[in-house]
Formats: sequence, C-alpha cells, structure tokens
Amino acid sequence: MKAIVVGAGFAGLAAALRLRKAGLEVTVLEQFDQPGGKAIGWEGVPTGPTVLTLPEIPRQILGAFGQELAGLKPVSPLTRYAWPDGRVFAPELELGATLAQLSAQEARDYRRLLDQARTMYEGARETFIFSQPPQVFRLLQYGLREGVKAHPLQPLSALVQSGPYLTPFFLRFATYLGANPYRAPAVLHNIAWVELGLGVFHLPGGMRALAQQLYELARAQGVQFLFGHRVLQMQRLPGRVGALQTDQGWHSADLYVSAADRHFTLGWLGLPVPQEALGVSGFAVLMKLSEAVPLGHFIYFSADYRAEWNQIAAGRWPQDPTLYLHTDGDTAFLLVNAPPLPPGTSSPPESQAYAAHLLQKLAQLHPLPIRAWQALSPVDYSRTAYRGALYGRAPHGLLGALRPGWAVAGLWNLVQVGGTVHPGGGVPLSMLSGWNGAGWLLSRASRQRGGVA
Ligand SMILES: Cc1cc2nc3c(=O)[nH]c(=O)nc-3n(C[C@H](O)[C@H](O)[C@H](O)COP(=O)(O)OP(=O)(O)OC[C@H]3O[C@@H](n4cnc5c(N)ncnc54)[C@H](O)[C@@H]3O)c2cc1C
Repeated sequence: MKAIVVGAGFAGLAAALRLRKAGLEVTVLEQFDQPGGKAIGWEGVPTGPTVLTLPEIPRQILGAFGQELAGLKPVSPLTRYAWPDGRVFAPELELGATLAQLSAQEARDYRRLLDQARTMYEGARETFIFSQPPQVFRLLQYGLREGVKAHPLQPLSALVQSGPYLTPFFLRFATYLGANPYRAPAVLHNIAWVELGLGVFHLPGGMRALAQQLYELARAQGVQFLFGHRVLQMQRLPGRVGALQTDQGWHSADLYVSAADRHFTLGWLGLPVPQEALGVSGFAVLMKLSEAVPLGHFIYFSADYRAEWNQIAAGRWPQDPTLYLHTDGDTAFLLVNAPPLPPGTSSPPESQAYAAHLLQKLAQLHPLPIRAWQALSPVDYSRTAYRGALYGRAPHGLLGALRPGWAVAGLWNLVQVGGTVHPGGGVPLSMLSGWNGAGWLLSRASRQRGGVA
C-alpha cells in the first residue's frame, strides 16, 4: 500500500515513520525545502519551539527504530522569571530549592497549585493525551472519575489566584496550548505540571536537531521526501480521498495523512473552514550573537498581564508585552504573544518597527551582543498556521481543552494529525499525534480492506 503524508513537521515525520514501519511505501510532500515545519530555524537560530518537555515521547518513537535522543539534558533552573519591580523567581526541579525563593504564603500556594496541576495531568493523561481522541463514552468515564478534580466550571484565572507574582506565573502555562489565560478553562492548569513537575530538557542543536534526526531516520527507512511541493487541493470521492494536487502535479495513494494545519486540510477538501475562535499567534525576533552566551529560558513579565491580554483579545499587538527569551550559544530567540491575523491579512506594515520596539525593551532587561536579527510576524507564521494561530482553535470555555479529532468529513483513508488536533500542540504531543494518528489510520484501513494493513 502507498501512503502520502502532507507536511514534514514533527507530526508528519512521526506519521511517516509509523506507516513505513508497517511496511507501506511512504511519500512526504512538503512546501518548504527542508524538514522541521515550525522548528525549521534560520541559519541555526530557532524559529519556533525551544522548550522541550515530555522527552519520553520522542525517545519512544526513536527507540522503535533502535535510536536514542543523544545529549539530552535536564535544564535547571527551568526558566528564570522576572517582574518589572525587580522580583526574580527561578523554579528548579528540586522543590526545596524552588520553595526557598518564595514567601511562606507563596510557598503554600505554590505547593497547592503544583499538587493540583499534577492531579489534573495524571487524571487526564490517558484520556486526553496517550490514547485516541476520546469518544463520548470515555469523556463520560473521565467526567465521572476526574470531573470534579478538573474544576470544570471554573476559569483558570480563578483557580490560580495566588498573589501578584505567582498568579501570572501559573496563568502563563495555558499559552502553551494557544490560550488567552483569562479565557482558559481551569483544566489547562495541568500544563504547569508538565514543565514544573516533569521538567524541561535541552538537546544539542535544539528542536531543529530533533527534526533532522527524525528526517534522517525516515530517509534511512526508505521514506521518500518531495520538498518544494505545495499541496493545493484534495480530490474528495464518496467516503475517501482519491488524489491530491500540488503545484507540481497530481499524486495518489491508498492512504493520506495531513500533518499540516487542520484548517488548511479543510480548505484543500473544499469544506467550509469553521468560524471558530482561534488561539494566539506569536511575534518573534531571531538573533545571531557576536559571542556565545549561556543556555537559558527567561520570562520578563509585563507591568500588567491582564491588560496585555486585553490588548491581544482586542486584536492589537501589546505595547508592553511579556517577553520570552531563549539563549543558546551564539543564538537568541525572543517571542511575545500576538493576536491571530484578521481574515485576508497578507502583510502587517509595522513589523520592523514592532521588532525594534521589542529589541529596545530587551536591551534594558537583558542586553545581548546582537550581530544580526530577523523578525517573524504572524504573517510569516501563517505559512504553517491558519491565520498565524500557532495551535489552531482556541482552547477556551468548558470543553476548550478537548482538541479536534483525527477523522475528517467521513473520509476513511485520511487522517488529520499534528499540533492543531488531538492531543497537540507542542513538539512532543504533535509527534504523538502523528504516530498514534497514523496507527489509527492503519487500523481503519485494515478494517476497510479486510486486514491488509
Ligand atoms: C513561536 C513558536 C514557539 C513555540 N514554542 C514551543 C516550545 O517551546 N515547545 C514546544 O513543544 N512547542 C512549541 N511550539 C509549538 C510547536 O512548534 C508545534 O506545536 C509543533 O512544531 C507542530 O508540529 P506539526 O508537525 O504539527 O506542524 P508544523 O510544524 O506546522 O508542520 C506542518 C508542515 O506542513 C507543511 N505544510 C503546510 N501547508 C502545506 C502545503 N500546502 N503543502 C505542503 N506542505 C505544507 C508546513 O510547511 C510544515 O512543514 C512553538 C511554536 C511556535 C510557532
């Protein structure tokens, strides 16, 4: 059997590996000229993901082919947080060292909220992360078993109230799934456990190196890659996809995986793109440095975190944004949250000016020997993310944490995987989506064809 995978990001690479392992002939179509998707990088500077969590997921996928994650190291402190009044907090994996930096009241709040995050994560992981997209029955089971502990009727902002420093600290984790933290449901608090409890890791060469390793492995396994092939449409036949068209011609296969943004897939199929609220986008400044600086993750909070999110919710780039900075050798990556693009936007005129504004703020907070820089605006991110929304649909409201599933419009030979669907986003969960989603497609194909796959 033949399979086509659209997209050579983490999800597409994992899906291609899974299908190839099952003995299929696999071709990956990718619009860019190299693998990695959002992690593609600019001459060694990260363009997207920098925080590696849940390394057991890439480890297990690589392990299925006898490979390991070479050079993986835990990072400590996990991230260094700073507030405009000079307060600094640098949590470590070791709880005692973390609590020693807090007042007695803060330490009680931190312990309580960390325990709550752990309970939520452990209660949700089987249903919402490591298995197939949950059906109604499993959701009910989860609701009955864990429902109350997930605080279903509470917003995150109420759950994590813990003073002027720890409240924004705990709120921020929801942005890892694209949420506006003030509109996120309480259950997104589970993300805090992933970073604070399970840890942050570093790989030499960053996420780009992980993508490269997966790509080289896939090639060695016999996966074919066609770079510079942009998918334009998918031919929809009754119950299945018949073929797909790229800017280079038509391709057909027995099975199809879309590992690109779910909204793109719907557009290629000629299906209506849902008018749902989108999650956040980002504005980044990529920097090359004239001398090496230590590895680190830094957050510089804005003076008023709620006001910043009000501006984003109103569709504006925040004037006093919270800065995320990642430094690694002679590269640095600066990121702020930004609203997704209004429909039809192709170029934000003030991109360079906004980047200069961010660099000015950075120079006061964290001076760096910058040799060259480049801005990445939501328009740039819109090449891999519909309207620049990095994680697709906004995870807001009561069922906000429930990601869209893998099935698309009743087409049995197509699966949608990646950071915009279950259980994404983020690098490890996108990989898991690709791996498990491809497995699900194989079992569907097997049923459809009487046991072929
Ligand atoms: C600024 C930023 C910071 C982030 N920080 C982190 C972090 O610190 N840690 C973390 O874990 N995650 C982070 N993420 C999220 C993480 O990068 C994503 O969730 C993950 O990379 C998604 O992988 P994917 O394979 O699903 O999608 P993508 O990486 O988007 O891959 C999809 C691929 O499909 C291709 N494609 C799209 N359209 C077409 C077409 N028409 N034809 C052919 N190919 C097409 C794209 O070019 C792309 O290569 C961050 C993301 C961004 C943007």
